[in-house]
Amino acid sequence: MVLSEESVLCTSRHGSSRPPTGAPASRAAGHKARASVLLLLFLLLFASAQAEVAFDSSFESGNATGFVQTGPTAYDFTFEPDTNSSDRQWFAFDVSGAAGMTLTFRLTQTNLSNVPGHWNTALPVASKDGGATWEFVTGSASNTSTTYTFSHTFTASPERIAFHFPYTWSYLVSRVAEWEQHPHVTREIIGQSVGGRAILLLHITNPEAVPAGGKKVFWFVTRQHAAEVTGSYLLDGLMEQLLADDETGRALRDGAEFFVAPMLNPDGVVAGNYRDNQAGVNLNRVWNNPSASTSPEVLAVTNRIDAWMAAGNRIDYFADLHSTSGASPHFAFHASSAIQPALYPTPATYSADSKAFLALLEEENPGFDAAKGSSGDTSEKLARQWITFKYGVFAFTFEGGYNKVNHGPNASARITPQDHRDVGRALARALVRRFDLQPAERADAWLVPGGGPKVGAQLATPRGETATME
Ligand SMILES: [Zn+2]
Repeated sequence: MVLSEESVLCTSRHGSSRPPTGAPASRAAGHKARASVLLLLFLLLFASAQAEVAFDSSFESGNATGFVQTGPTAYDFTFEPDTNSSDRQWFAFDVSGAAGMTLTFRLTQTNLSNVPGHWNTALPVASKDGGATWEFVTGSASNTSTTYTFSHTFTASPERIAFHFPYTWSYLVSRVAEWEQHPHVTREIIGQSVGGRAILLLHITNPEAVPAGGKKVFWFVTRQHAAEVTGSYLLDGLMEQLLADDETGRALRDGAEFFVAPMLNPDGVVAGNYRDNQAGVNLNRVWNNPSASTSPEVLAVTNRIDAWMAAGNRIDYFADLHSTSGASPHFAFHASSAIQPALYPTPATYSADSKAFLALLEEENPGFDAAKGSSGDTSEKLARQWITFKYGVFAFTFEGGYNKVNHGPNASARITPQDHRDVGRALARALVRRFDLQPAERADAWLVPGGGPKVGAQLATPRGETATME
């Protein structure tokens, strides 16, 4: 029996043991009776605490609601749609009072986005330290077209459950603070989200190294879609390689400059959305016409790119990092073959060049599936197509999955953040090969006497701005 706090208090309040005052015999009896009541109260409170499993999703990236107990250890739940939208996929919630118990959760939701998609094999993750570290849940998962069921044996209280390894806005801000310690990294705020959070842009290059032909320029954007955490982990791996004190890192920083917008949808990430921003907009469908009021996150980037190109600069490569609900991680869409003819003699040449780059990446990481690459959605509303149509940039959308590696020698392994990071590191190596980048010490002719022009000097990168970070 589960007693509410109110019923426990009533038991105590209406017990028959209250002694009359002043009589020693009755006082002793009263003590005994009072002790019994206290013991009963303790036992009831203990039993109540043991049985009171509670749920909470009021934390960053949390999203779960409507928990209903359907059996001694079974619960149904659902999740909120994206802010001002009907998209939904991500869940994250805390469970308290369940230490020592194995609970089964059934996500019940008609119109699950991407059914069956990832739901057939993906396994949620659990954290005993409030999201600092994660492991897969202990039980297995299964699905129908409208439900997704998994179980977990709890050993801590509270313990956090999530759809896949979360990569939150707060974690990104902490990573940026670490990356900024590197002398070749500067950071600026190029705009604000609908909710007033900073749209960050990192600039990474070695300003002392100036190749004779100018540096290659690479752009990366991540987390347009709020829940697509694999893109963030891929970028994390790319940044680790880019900032490494090794030959690959030096080749990248000496031979190229990187512009990295590491989280374009911070509001959606904080809210626990699946895809959309705070205005309910799918940001990767507005690149040809972003709005200052409903998609300022994209407008900040397109304005920055337009200004960069208008000043006579170049962009050699662009990548937009996402996650896929399908069963074929990791792969990439390339841009439409309807490329500007000034850059490529024929669409077929462009397509071949794109596929050659993806093959290079698969050489660097056999878990990457180059053969799955295609031009996908050819609309200019998408980031990669917009920049390809407008500026003829060699552009890709990378997709990472939530299920199994599904390609290469570790195909059957359950995918983890390290797999995503490894693809990011491999992407960095593939860029070195594709663009023939070299460290400055192996290309002395690149160094301009006296330090040369300050590469990236046209960037306004004041340090110490106060960002709306949380
Ligand atoms: Zn996406």
